[in-house]
Amino acid sequence: MTPSESPPQDVTARATKLRQQLQEASYAYYVLDHPTMEDEVYDRLYRELQSLEAQYPQLVTPDSPTQRVGEKPATEFPTVQHAIALYSLENAFTIEEFTDWQGRWQRLAGGDVPSEYVCELKIDGSALALRYENGVLVRGATRGDGTAGEDITPNIKTIRTIPLRLYGNNPPAWAEIRGEALIPLESFQQINQKRQHNGEMPFANPRNAAAGTLRQLDPKVVAARRLDFFAYTLYLPTEYAQIQTQWELLEWLQHFGFKVNPHRQLCSSVSAVEDFYNRWENQRHDLPYMTDGVVVKLNDIALQERLGFTQKFPRWAVALKYPAEEVPTQVVGVSAQVGRTGALTPVAQLKPVQLAGTTVSRASLHNEDRVRELDLHVGDTVVVRKAGEIIPEVVRVMPELRPEEAQPYQLPSTCPVCGSAVLRPAGEAITRCINASCPAILKGSLRHWASREALDIQGMGEKLVAQLVKRRLVASIADLYFLTVAQVADLERMGPKSAGKLVQAIANSKEKPWSRVLYGLGIRHVGSVNAQLLAQRFPSCEQLAKAKASDIESVYGIGSEIAWSIYQWFRTPANQTLIEQLQAAGVTLASEPPAAEEPASFNPQPFQGKTFVLTGTLPTMSRKDAQRFIEQRGGKVTSSVSQKTDYVVVGENPGSKQKKAESFRIPQLQETDLRHLADETT
Ligand code: NAD
Repeated sequence: MTPSESPPQDVTARATKLRQQLQEASYAYYVLDHPTMEDEVYDRLYRELQSLEAQYPQLVTPDSPTQRVGEKPATEFPTVQHAIALYSLENAFTIEEFTDWQGRWQRLAGGDVPSEYVCELKIDGSALALRYENGVLVRGATRGDGTAGEDITPNIKTIRTIPLRLYGNNPPAWAEIRGEALIPLESFQQINQKRQHNGEMPFANPRNAAAGTLRQLDPKVVAARRLDFFAYTLYLPTEYAQIQTQWELLEWLQHFGFKVNPHRQLCSSVSAVEDFYNRWENQRHDLPYMTDGVVVKLNDIALQERLGFTQKFPRWAVALKYPAEEVPTQVVGVSAQVGRTGALTPVAQLKPVQLAGTTVSRASLHNEDRVRELDLHVGDTVVVRKAGEIIPEVVRVMPELRPEEAQPYQLPSTCPVCGSAVLRPAGEAITRCINASCPAILKGSLRHWASREALDIQGMGEKLVAQLVKRRLVASIADLYFLTVAQVADLERMGPKSAGKLVQAIANSKEKPWSRVLYGLGIRHVGSVNAQLLAQRFPSCEQLAKAKASDIESVYGIGSEIAWSIYQWFRTPANQTLIEQLQAAGVTLASEPPAAEEPASFNPQPFQGKTFVLTGTLPTMSRKDAQRFIEQRGGKVTSSVSQKTDYVVVGENPGSKQKKAESFRIPQLQETDLRHLADETT
């Protein structure tokens, strides 16, 4: 494509919509101090517009949000022209993007220049420009659109960490200082409580609270909110001092009486920058104020001057931001997946997007009602989030970015795999394929049977299972045990060696305990914990198959719905045949005494009624292990911290959940505490 090629119509329409939405969001954010969009969503849409504009430069308009820093100042305060412009910062969201940025400045600097960086925390506050003349603070202003801001001197004078007079006996004729005004988290919470109490809208985040406070007309209100300030940039007359490095500059700021953030580091390699960034990704949760990344600046000021600025950013600094947990992307299609129970799950296919460190291209839409509630159209821009940190889900749709021709999605009326009718029983949210021999149901059952929690058969991945079903080598779980090495070796991407391994793994699975077999059967509502409880009470398949629903329900932790589902399962002729076939294959269908996998004294319910949340990596347990450990003991694991959470189990690199646990004063447990708690309550 040549740069003059005009953009396709849908690209132009998308750029126009993005520009309009970003402009509205930016106004709400900077001028009204009431954001209408999450910052992470804003950042991604902004990047999308940027890349469309880079691809088709004709799309750039002078008023595009990509062309300006902030917003024009609001009118309540006198406007002040900045003697030296204030810039924004270019963003990098990963170390790879940082390395790209490094490559760019190095090429501009003409090759192999030593790269010494100063890493500073990126304080999530509001930028201020301060002017001192002969050592005295004469003016303080907001950043505004970078060239003109609001003169808010009386408010700035209430911030105690901004000196009204520079320290030292020999002040410069003038000095321009830049830094970040912030609201500590504690004050932020108090301010919002008060606002809610007075029926006012709470601030969305501490950054908006800082910006909003600085624009208060009454300096007394500002004084009461206890703003703080960290300085990070200084300009002085050259005859007064020739500052050579950013590091030295920060020391000068301290010398003049400013607070400079102590968490800074000189780094001379990408890996040193990466270490600083990773370290602060966790430690930032212990700071009394918000940070949203790390600012990396070239230390050598002569080099900074050589590189200069783009229209918006210095070329010698970059903001390395922390991974987003909620991002926007576009739905390119929706398909209905059929699971092992025949349930049709609508799944959105997404334009691939980076989310919390991984690339996401699909998100679950749960069921038909959820699709309707979201009013999802194919082509919509949606916000996706990692639910429970594993499966991404669609949080909301942005109808304002919907293309004209977008159509609402509807679940198919026939099974997309076998073409049979689908049914949604009254009162249920799930639509199911009712053809018991639907290949999707068979594939799902085989995958479930082979899963780690069930019979744990290594090597039975999705592709292999699909081939077994397609070639009609298996028509039920039991058929697995009659596969020959030659049959398996004949499959795609298989050889005699891997086939031998798989057949052996299948044979070994016959020794797995009865409780795992019971779970592997995939009876509705029988999860791994229930299967263990049932196997303890009914040490053989025969006993369970004969049991009345009321006997099954008498097992502690088993409700009537589960009991009825098990009872019916064993009364279905196809299932009875399956059990006979499994028995013929030699699969374990009874427990060896002593029956349980757990010690005899094990009380299964010490965590009864308790809700746990897991965050970070535990020393010895995987997330699944920890979940099973808790659930086996009657506890519940949820994905987000709320007032109802009893304990938060914290491992290495915990996420924001730990912070939330702190703010709700929820007890935090290490893995060893969790094990002790299980013992104590047993
Ligand atoms: P920015 O906040 O991403 O980065 C630049 C700013 O970082 C500087 O102006 C400075 O104030 C600050 N900073 C903090 N610590 C610093 C340090 N140590 N050294 C240098 N600077 C430091 O950029 P921006 O232009 O202020 O704002 C863009 C951001 O605002 C976007 O990331 C977006 O999330 C947010 N925004 C959100 C909306 C919305 O609707 N939610 C709208 C507009 C903008």
